[in-house]
Amino acid sequence: MSFEKLGVFKPLLDAIKDLGYTEPTLVQTRAIPLVLAKKDVFATAQTGTGKTAAFVLPILQKLRKPVQGKGVRAVILSPTRELSIQIHDDISDLSKYMEIRTTILVGGKDLQKQREALKKGTEIVIATPGRLLEHIENGLSLKDVEIFVLDEADRMLDMGFTKDIRKIHPLMPKRHQTLLFSATFSDKVRRLSKLILTKPAFIET
Ligand code: AMP
Repeated sequence: MSFEKLGVFKPLLDAIKDLGYTEPTLVQTRAIPLVLAKKDVFATAQTGTGKTAAFVLPILQKLRKPVQGKGVRAVILSPTRELSIQIHDDISDLSKYMEIRTTILVGGKDLQKQREALKKGTEIVIATPGRLLEHIENGLSLKDVEIFVLDEADRMLDMGFTKDIRKIHPLMPKRHQTLLFSATFSDKVRRLSKLILTKPAFIET
């Protein structure tokens, strides 16, 4: 399989080449076409399988055309600050031939600085659930969100973020795409998936 055959477009293929990835991993091969086809996805994938690029690549491709006057178009929820930074680094590497802005909203960092970054405009937000809610209470709108990702969903639920995720989800438009990535297929994750996914495609790796 090749990234080209999966439908990945040129600016991303060039970035992938620079990173030295020669072929997609299993989770990438399965997820990329589904995400590009606008499906909701429930994927079980461990860290190290290339799961981050599996959602980052199709998200970047879907957001490729900047839309004037739009707010945040993709929200990626992650359990920790470290994972958020890792996702941000992957987005930076893969979007180097595109014009796309990404902002990290995590606890322990200056709230005011994050607010200023949001004011300048951003297409993608990577956030921990609690900190995202704080920004929402301060006026951040999710009304333009097209894609919602929960990364390491099982870890987020184990860390007690269920309530926050349940509060965040209804603030997005009805018609948005949701991608749920989890290392395990626990009861908690299954319950959440029923609540937030619409006719999901399942990927087990
Ligand atoms: P992840 O599972 O997202 O934590 O990714 C694990 C590592 O695999 C990261 O260092 C990525 O840069 C790398 N990676 C992702 N996709 C590929 C690929 N198709 N080929 C080689 N390495 C990759």
